[in-house]
Amino acid sequence: MCPPDESPMTLRLFNTLTGEVDTLAPAPGEPLRIYACGPTVYDYGHIGNFRTFLQVDVLRRFLKLNGIPLRHVMNITDVDDRIIQNTVASGVTLREYTARFEQAFFEDLDALRIERPEVIARATEHIPRMVELVQRLAAAGAAYKTDEGSWYFRLAAFPEYGKLSKKDLSGMEDGARVDLDRYEKDSARDFALWKAAKPGETSWDTPIGRGRPGWHIECSAMAMEYLGESFDLHAGGEDLMFPHHENEIAQSETVTHKPFARHWMHVRFLLVDGRKMSKSEGNFFTLRDLLLKGYKASAIRLALISVPYRHQLNFTFDSLTDATKAIERLRTFHRRLAGGNFPSGENAALQAAARKAEANFLGALADDLNTAEARAPIFELVRTANTAMDEGQLRSCDRDLILSVLRKFDAVFDVIDDRDEEPTRRAIEWARQTGRESEIAPELLARQSIADEQVEALLAERAQAKKQRNFARADQIRSELAEKGIVIEDSKEGVRWKRK
Ligand code: AMP
Ligand code: ZN
Repeated sequence: MCPPDESPMTLRLFNTLTGEVDTLAPAPGEPLRIYACGPTVYDYGHIGNFRTFLQVDVLRRFLKLNGIPLRHVMNITDVDDRIIQNTVASGVTLREYTARFEQAFFEDLDALRIERPEVIARATEHIPRMVELVQRLAAAGAAYKTDEGSWYFRLAAFPEYGKLSKKDLSGMEDGARVDLDRYEKDSARDFALWKAAKPGETSWDTPIGRGRPGWHIECSAMAMEYLGESFDLHAGGEDLMFPHHENEIAQSETVTHKPFARHWMHVRFLLVDGRKMSKSEGNFFTLRDLLLKGYKASAIRLALISVPYRHQLNFTFDSLTDATKAIERLRTFHRRLAGGNFPSGENAALQAAARKAEANFLGALADDLNTAEARAPIFELVRTANTAMDEGQLRSCDRDLILSVLRKFDAVFDVIDDRDEEPTRRAIEWARQTGRESEIAPELLARQSIADEQVEALLAERAQAKKQRNFARADQIRSELAEKGIVIEDSKEGVRWKRK
């Protein structure tokens, strides 16, 4: 009998609203209610966007690992200024335009192994809820209609405005308006709740007039629809703190008189050369760009989560190379441990090392999701256990315990189990379908130029050649496969192969 497991931990997470690290736990017997702002499906997401979704994935997975049931809602912003502009320019319907990028977003989530939230809600399917909210705001004297038929939130109606971003709004002009969904930090003004229809734009005929919702009202309406008037946690990238989240709070709390979200989590930016990675700066990479350059989805995942969410992360290709090597080390170790034969019993020092690694791993995540400090003890354990295996000091209970530590690590990091081939194959297929062949790295094409059956056939031929002591041919086959990125491992159980 091997000794039993450790007990769950409570998460302490920085809360933008209080400015402190607060405990995040659901009400007794309830799931933890989370709303995380989703993508605007106007284009392919860049890896800065995915850094935010990945960090929320880390949060989700850590909570689940500790037995906390979740009700996590993510919106899909499928109507906003940029989408409207692009549909008008390309002459397709809103749904035709957004469907393509929504599908691409889900494919990218899958490639990065980002778990799906319990609820995914499209803005365009919740228009009546948004209209109702505008009506309630109007009834409360906090919304007014302009001559053109747009509706604005009256900032003066919410004296607590600025409490999340801690902005000083003393210079604010009363009654000044801004109708862009995304606007600059200094323009704290009455913002658009509902935008009157313009010719040629998609619009909805509603009791408050013909038009379309502003971006901020979407999130208030959908969060309250699925999570109630008050919920546990609201998350998003740091750029959303102002004005988006500030506006969500103003709209929601004005009608409910209750705290909207108790806890706010903001993921710091992914930078390139010290500047925010963004479409408008032109300094971005999409996930597909990187897959086509030959980086694996798991390496991109690891690189983007290894720096904790509270820190900005400067993107470099070296970080992807480091992540690739780190994953290879973990996978090789895992294979060696899971496939090995060890004498029964336990090695007390290794048991202690494994338990300490697990406690430090969980403790670092519980301490404001410190992913960097969480992964370090796991790599240290890999080193210790490799040495123990080399010296014949590892026993069956040690293997079981270390495998269970790795399972917990992978319940959050999810990089050991090798499922990298599918995303790369899909990216290549996508590049071919969309005229981007020239972006596919030549090594990747060479690697993909051999089908599984051909590999199997060549390996059978190699086995035959070895039997006949034709080692020249056997070696030739090995190098032929190596050129195509196929790595062969001869083991006691037979020949195993994988793509590099
Ligand atoms: P959007 O599709 O523009 O609404 O953005 C989706 C998510 O990505 C939001 O939570 C943004 O805050 C986040 N985001 C945008 N740019 C970056 C970046 N460079 N680094 C991290 N998160 C980002
Ligand atoms: Zn939002």
